[in-house]
Amino acid sequence: MSNLNTDIRFLKGVGEKRAEKLYSMGIDTFGALLRFYPRAYQDLSKITKIFDCVRGEKVCVKAKVTTPVKEQYIRQNMTVYRFDVSDDSGVLSVTVFNNKFLANSLKVDREYLFYGKISENSFSLSMSSPEILGTSAMGIRPVYSTASGITSKMIEKMVKPLLLGDIGEDTLPLSVRESYKLCDLKTALLNIHFPKSTEALQVAKRRLVFEELFILQTGLMLLKGKKKANTDFIVKYDFSSEFQNLLPFKMTNAQTTAINDCIKDMSSGRAMNRLIEGDVGSGKTAVAVSLMYTMAKNGFQSVLMAPTEILAEQHFKTVSGLLENSGLNYCLLTGSTTKSNKEKIKLALKNGDIDIAIGTHALISDDVEFNNLGLVITDEQHRFGVGQRAKLAGKGEKPHTLVMSATPIPRTLGLIIYGDLDISIINEYPKGRQQIESYLVTSKLRQRVYGYIKKHLDEGRQGYIVCPLVEESEDTPLISAERYYNSLKSGKFKDYRVGLLHGKMNSKEKETVMHKFKDGEIQLLICTTVIEVGIDVPNATIMVIENAERFGLSQLHQLRGRIGRGSFKSTCIFISDLTSGSTAERLNVIKSSTDGFKIADEDLKLRGPGDFLGNRQHGLPQLKIADISSDIDILRLSGMAAANLLEKDPKLKAEDCIPLRKEIISLYIKLNEN
Ligand code: ADP
Ligand code: MG
Repeated sequence: MSNLNTDIRFLKGVGEKRAEKLYSMGIDTFGALLRFYPRAYQDLSKITKIFDCVRGEKVCVKAKVTTPVKEQYIRQNMTVYRFDVSDDSGVLSVTVFNNKFLANSLKVDREYLFYGKISENSFSLSMSSPEILGTSAMGIRPVYSTASGITSKMIEKMVKPLLLGDIGEDTLPLSVRESYKLCDLKTALLNIHFPKSTEALQVAKRRLVFEELFILQTGLMLLKGKKKANTDFIVKYDFSSEFQNLLPFKMTNAQTTAINDCIKDMSSGRAMNRLIEGDVGSGKTAVAVSLMYTMAKNGFQSVLMAPTEILAEQHFKTVSGLLENSGLNYCLLTGSTTKSNKEKIKLALKNGDIDIAIGTHALISDDVEFNNLGLVITDEQHRFGVGQRAKLAGKGEKPHTLVMSATPIPRTLGLIIYGDLDISIINEYPKGRQQIESYLVTSKLRQRVYGYIKKHLDEGRQGYIVCPLVEESEDTPLISAERYYNSLKSGKFKDYRVGLLHGKMNSKEKETVMHKFKDGEIQLLICTTVIEVGIDVPNATIMVIENAERFGLSQLHQLRGRIGRGSFKSTCIFISDLTSGSTAERLNVIKSSTDGFKIADEDLKLRGPGDFLGNRQHGLPQLKIADISSDIDILRLSGMAAANLLEKDPKLKAEDCIPLRKEIISLYIKLNEN
C-alpha cells in the first residue's frame, strides 16, 4: 500500500506543531513533500581554488582553517568572528557575524567547505558570512522555500528518507517517456532533491516540467471532450440566412463558419461553451446578432453583455439598426438606465416579452430575471471575470454561452488559457478594408505628424492621439493626456474641435465625449487606452500613439484596430524615442504586421506569456515547477504528447495510464475548487 497519502504529521520527527506549519506551506502528505521541489540549489560540487577566486562571485572553497578565530565585539548584538583559511593555492580571510556557536566549533587545521560570495570591496580576498560545511557535504544541495519554524535543512532531512521508500507509480506512461526521452519518476525525484550532477538535475527538471504540463494539458483536453450538460434550449431552425437578408453587407466566410459552429452546438441538445476569437474589426458583432436572431426565432431569449456602457450602447445601436423591422423586441440595460425604465425592462424580461437584451454588468445584478434565457454572449471578455460570466450563465437553465475575444492568443497558450472552451477563429476581414499604413517615428518628427493629422481632419476625417497616462508625475517624462489636450486645444489645433477622454472621467462624462466623437462633433480625440475596446467610428482614419514603447504589442494592435474600419485609407503613427533594444524590435513587429495572431506570437516570444496569462482569472492550479515563460518548448511538446496519447487511448484505459488518470482526477478537483 502506498503511503503517499499519509498525513505529514505521521512522518518521523514531525509533531503537531510542525505539521501545522507544513500544512500552511501546502505540504500535507508524504506525497506532497516528495513533490515539494527545491526553489534553488547550492552548487558545492565545483571547488574553486582560492587562487582562482574572483571578486563578486559566489564560490565554494575547500580549505583548512589556519588561524584561531578572533572575536571582536562591535556593539550590542554585533560580534564579529574572523579567521583565515587556505588551500594549496592561497589564503582567504573569512568573517562570520554573531554566530558564536559556529565560531567555537571550528577547528584549526581542519578542512571545511566555505560557500559564499567573494567580497568585492576589500584588498585581500575575503568572504563574509559564508555557509560553512563539513567536506562530506560536497555536491549540489537543495535550497527549499521556508516558513517560520521550518528551515531548508529540516525539509532536506525529511525528504531524504522518503526518497528511499515508496515514491508511487510513474504518472508518465512508458511510451511517452520513451518518445520524449524522459527519465523515470524515481530518477527524477532523487535528482531534483539531491542532484548527482548539474546534468542529472537538468534531466530531472525536464522530466518534471514535462510531467506537470502534460498532466495539465491532458486534463484540459479531456475536460473539453467531456460530455456537455444537457440543455432544453435546442435550436430547431437555423435563421442565419434569413438574418443575412437584413444585413447591408455579405458575411465573410469566416463569419459564416463561426455562426455555423455555434448553430451546430446549439442544436445539439448540449450547452454550447464556445469562444470566438476574431481580430479587431473582423465583424464579431454581426455574428453575435445573427445568433441572437436565430435564438429569438426559436423562441428563446438572449443577452449580449459588454464591458462598458459605451460599447453596450454601440451594440444596441447596431442591433436596433438591423432588427428594426424584424418584429423582435430588444432592450438596453446599463447602469444609467433610469429607474422606471429599468423596472419596465425587468418585467418584460421576466415575462419573456423581450427577446434580446443588450447591456453591461447591470444585466447580471441579482434582481434581473429571465423567462427563458437560452444564450449568453459576452463581448471582449478579457474585461469580464470568470465569476461574472458564471453568474450570468447561472441566470438560465444551462443556457448556451459564447465568449467573443478580440485578443488573439498564441496557439500554444490557447488551450491552457481557455481550458474547456471550444474555439472558432475569425481570421478574415470584411472585403474592401483598407490596409492600415503604420509608421514608427521619433518625437523629433512630432510637428510633421501634426501636419499630417491636420491633413486628415481637413479632408473631413477624424483622428485619435493616444497617451499612456492621465496624470503626469514629476519623475516621468511621459506625455499626459490632460496636459497634452490643453496645449493642443489652445495651440496647434486651436482651429479644430479637440476632445479629451481618459479613464479618470466618470462614465457619463466619457459617454458624452464618445458620443460627440461618434457624431463628428469632435474631430481629434486625445485619449488614453479607454478607447481600446470595441469602439467603432469608421470615419476615424488617423491614430498617433505617443510613448508607444509603454504599451504591449497586443495592446497596440487593439488600439490600432480603432481605425481602418471604414472605406477610407487609414494611418497609424507610433511615436517612440527608443530606437534600439528589444522594445524597438517589438515596435518594428507592430509596424510591419497587422495580423493579430502573428503579433500575439511575437509578443509571446518577446515578452513571455505574462500579458496573456496575467490579466485574466484563468482559474488554473498553480504550477509547481513549470514556468510557462521559459518552458514554452516543453509546453508545446507535452501538448503534442497529450493529444497523441488521447487519440490512441481517449479514455486512458491502458494499464500504464492508470496513475495518470488518478492524477488528472485530483487535478479536476483542484480546478473545481478554483
Ligand atoms: P469586431 O470584430 O472588432 O467587434 P465589429 O463587429 O465592430 O468588429 O465590426 C467592424 C465593422 O465591420 C462594423 O462597422 C461592421 O458593421 C462591419 N462589418 C462586419 N461584418 C462585415 C462584413 N461581412 N462586410 C462588411 N462589413 C462588415
Ligand atoms: Mg467588437
